Amino acid sequence: MKNFTESVPGFRKLVAGSVLLPGDPGYDESRAIWNGMFDKKPALIARCTSTEDVSKAVIFAREHQLPIAVKGGGHNSAGNAVCDDGMMIDLSLMQGVEVDADRQRAKVEGGCLLGAVDEATQEHGLAVSAGIVSHTGVGGLTLGGGFGWISRKYGLTIDNLLSVELVTAKGKVVFASATENKDLFWAVRGGGGNFGIATTFEFQAAAIGTELYTGPVVKRFEDTADYIRFHREYVRKMPDEMTIWMVVRHAPPLPFIPEEYHGKLVVLIPFVWLGDPEEGEKLIQPIRDFGETVGDGSGVKPWKDWQSAFDGLVSHGARNYWKSHHLKDLSDECIEVITTYAAKMPHEECEVFIPHMEGAPSRIDPVSTAFPHRNTPFLLNLHTRWQDASDDDRCIRWAREFHDATRPFSQGVYVNFLSEEGDARVREAYTEEVWKRLVKIKQRWDPENTFRMNQNISPTP
Ligand SMILES: Cc1cc2nc3c(=O)[nH]c(=O)nc-3n(C[C@H](O)[C@H](O)[C@H](O)COP(=O)(O)OP(=O)(O)OC[C@H]3O[C@@H](n4cnc5c(N)ncnc54)[C@H](O)[C@@H]3O)c2cc1C
Repeated sequence: MKNFTESVPGFRKLVAGSVLLPGDPGYDESRAIWNGMFDKKPALIARCTSTEDVSKAVIFAREHQLPIAVKGGGHNSAGNAVCDDGMMIDLSLMQGVEVDADRQRAKVEGGCLLGAVDEATQEHGLAVSAGIVSHTGVGGLTLGGGFGWISRKYGLTIDNLLSVELVTAKGKVVFASATENKDLFWAVRGGGGNFGIATTFEFQAAAIGTELYTGPVVKRFEDTADYIRFHREYVRKMPDEMTIWMVVRHAPPLPFIPEEYHGKLVVLIPFVWLGDPEEGEKLIQPIRDFGETVGDGSGVKPWKDWQSAFDGLVSHGARNYWKSHHLKDLSDECIEVITTYAAKMPHEECEVFIPHMEGAPSRIDPVSTAFPHRNTPFLLNLHTRWQDASDDDRCIRWAREFHDATRPFSQGVYVNFLSEEGDARVREAYTEEVWKRLVKIKQRWDPENTFRMNQNISPTP
């Protein structure tokens, strides 16, 4: 790293946003990320307000040999959005969303959060297929793949990406789409932030309306194994319009859950139905009728409310350690492991999260984007979450042991759910063919690995 402090006043004049050094007002707020496990201190922060700012920041960092970390929404559990000593390029002031209602398209700036996209698109009854927590960043989510409540019907977030504006490792502004810089467009759809800093995304939106039939049905934890045996068959028979997931966790004190269950382990079965509520209700009835239902929060709800319904359970600042993989199936052996470890959940904020993934994404050629694991029916994500550093060891150990025990039932991992797990694990997010192609594209667009504070695809095989 070259001494850069003398150049900071000049850099400040160059950018429209702000340049923050340790101790400056706003420095600590800017470097804070969702996962409270990380307390990294960049040597300087460029809070960019435009693509030009981002380009100037990349050039400055390169000239002074500063490693670059890029903060989109700062939500990734691996904590890559921030670095020690280098430059953090903070995109969080780049929050613009423009909706073209006639063409059902949304242009979204690289630092936007999902809530802002829902806010703008819902004005027109539209939605972009993306994640389920409104304070997640569009940037990281999209570049890694992106899935949520409507992706079984409309595809992953990357399947709805029409074009992207990027600042390259040389600080150049380029566009990528199906017709321009096609290799780059392929790579950014699953390859993460390895190829450039995305300053604007253009998405296809879907006309879903503003109210949908949604809800969790709640089951007793004692019936988990029986319920999963039913669930694994039933949800796979559903039309793409119906998405039914499963979460084992301690019951939050919600009005539709009887008080005696509050704070106890339960199975939540949240769902979203894209269609006539009466038809959806008929499809959910067998779930209610299976065994005992202890709570039912289903009903027609505004989409924006539903999209932020889980925000409070995963608020900023807690300590988090995620372990995940795609599941080939939910075999009896796998269910046995899930129920055994779920019963030993180390903290009441932890969750065993099992979304059903099949649908439109699995009908897309697995090598047409850099997101190849499209054919696994389920995903297992261990949301290990707690508050006190003294609980680190036992919480992390639970996640690791649980994860290892389910490994025989897994195939690959979703890159956005990786913790800091090493190079070999990053490769498991891709197939061999996809990995080789990613490395070639990295060699072309970022041969010096300028963008390496991420789930890294190194240009040097
Ligand atoms: C509570 C919670 C809920 C989640 N729910 C979902 C979900 O429903 N569906 C889903 O698919 N995923 C979900 N995720 C995972 C999510 O997709 C990732 O955490 C994602 O990386 C978040 O993006 P971000 O911009 O907020 O992350 P950041 O931490 O800011 O960045 C993550 C990585 O992406 C890079 N990056 C971010 N923005 C850009 C950009 N504009 N250009 C270049 N590189 C960039 C960063 O450098 C970093 O390496 C969830 C995560 C959490 C913590």
